[in-house]
Amino acid sequence: MSLISKDFRSNQHQSHQKGYVRLRWALLVIVFAGIGAVVANTNNVNDAANETGLIANSSTARISTAMLSTELHTKTAPAFKSVTTSADDLARESFTLSLPELQAQQKIIDEANRLSSKKWREFTVKSGDNLARLFKRASIKAQQLDELMKSGDEVKTLTRIFPKDTIRVLSDDNGKLQALRYDIDQKSYLMVEREQGVLVAKTYNHEIETRHTHASGTIDSSLSHAAEKAGISQNIFMELANIFGWDIDFALDIRKGDSFTVLYEELFRNGEKISDGKILAADFINDGKIYRTVRYTNPQTNSSEYYTPDGKSMRKAFIRSPVHFSRISSGFNLKRKHPILLNKRPHRGVDYAAKSGTPIYAAGDGKVIFKGKKGGYGKVMILQHGTKYTTLYAHLKTYNRKLKKGSKVKQGQTIAYVGKTGLATGPHLHYEFRVNGTHRNPLTVKLPISSPVPPRYMADFELSTTPLFSQLDLLVRSQQVAMADNI
Ligand SMILES: [Zn+2]
Repeated sequence: MSLISKDFRSNQHQSHQKGYVRLRWALLVIVFAGIGAVVANTNNVNDAANETGLIANSSTARISTAMLSTELHTKTAPAFKSVTTSADDLARESFTLSLPELQAQQKIIDEANRLSSKKWREFTVKSGDNLARLFKRASIKAQQLDELMKSGDEVKTLTRIFPKDTIRVLSDDNGKLQALRYDIDQKSYLMVEREQGVLVAKTYNHEIETRHTHASGTIDSSLSHAAEKAGISQNIFMELANIFGWDIDFALDIRKGDSFTVLYEELFRNGEKISDGKILAADFINDGKIYRTVRYTNPQTNSSEYYTPDGKSMRKAFIRSPVHFSRISSGFNLKRKHPILLNKRPHRGVDYAAKSGTPIYAAGDGKVIFKGKKGGYGKVMILQHGTKYTTLYAHLKTYNRKLKKGSKVKQGQTIAYVGKTGLATGPHLHYEFRVNGTHRNPLTVKLPISSPVPPRYMADFELSTTPLFSQLDLLVRSQQVAMADNI
């Protein structure tokens, strides 16, 4: 018990890590001694093997337990005398052990098991599981759950556990919880430890390394096929579509021969890739037109956005009300009684009363995805903006004749005129705003911001984005050379 309770008591992240490292060192050395099979099925050993990067980096790691320094003599393996060598050095050592030495080591393994793996047990959350059930399986007293839940705010994460999550517990023979570890996600974990008799919960972050990578693709059959061929994940692909979605319709505008190049981050933990990070910069050539974007973090607000090379936002803005109206005759109300039908019908938009023939403007840059009659709505036009937003305009008198399904529109462009077609008591515009297909109140919905890089940060913007653009240029050029070679 002493090794673990001592090592896990420390408060700070660093010393906590070190304690954990020390325990792993002890087990790691046992494995390297050539008889690791006995303990190889314990989780700590698996961790030790997985996280050798962490161990190798810790030059201060020593086996501090008395048992290892006294019972394992120097003649067996020099590495045991002072374990300040790297894990690589250890791995290169070969050990030939006599029977008494083997027995001595078996004792150490038994001791290590008693200290760690027999007590630290791993449980996988099952469907319909909760902590109470898990504690029962672990033979931990039910009252311990109350104490655990009082161990700090951090522990609330345990109320949202999911099947296949892993929870490790350390308990004593009386069913008293000594420590608990839960991997919250790939970046952080919860550690609850008993400190001077009281359970204390803390969240720790793993050290995550960010690396830059890139991918290029040319569309031959479909965009998703090209993305797959380029080796980019679904997430990066979706993110690309979101960023360029204001300019390019990824469902309809994509042409054979279109190409893309993307620079993005990959996140690593202990040398293993855990996920993709952010897109840093990207090019998309659609129907011969080049669209380019870069990610930039505003030094003042610390918020990151995607911009064009000249500092304009990739996201386009909306105007709140797409018509000059005299009054709002009916607001957004999901429980409204319909004025003509007199039954309860939700009003999923806003009615702007205005004179017949008043021009209606496109609320934002986008594209006409519907133009025609729709029952009680009369003449309707629907615009798509980016990948997330659509706006609907109903009871129209007439449309802008130049616009048809598929036409691109600019914010503020006249798209139609106020009328009272369909079920309407008087001339008005019925306006709807949808985010990912869900109706939102057009008067209160949070509209995407679209501010350019502030003038005073333009110099910083140029300084930080120029290297990304140079890299992108290089990649695009080599992509074009590769394409030319294929023809
Ligand atoms: Zn209405």
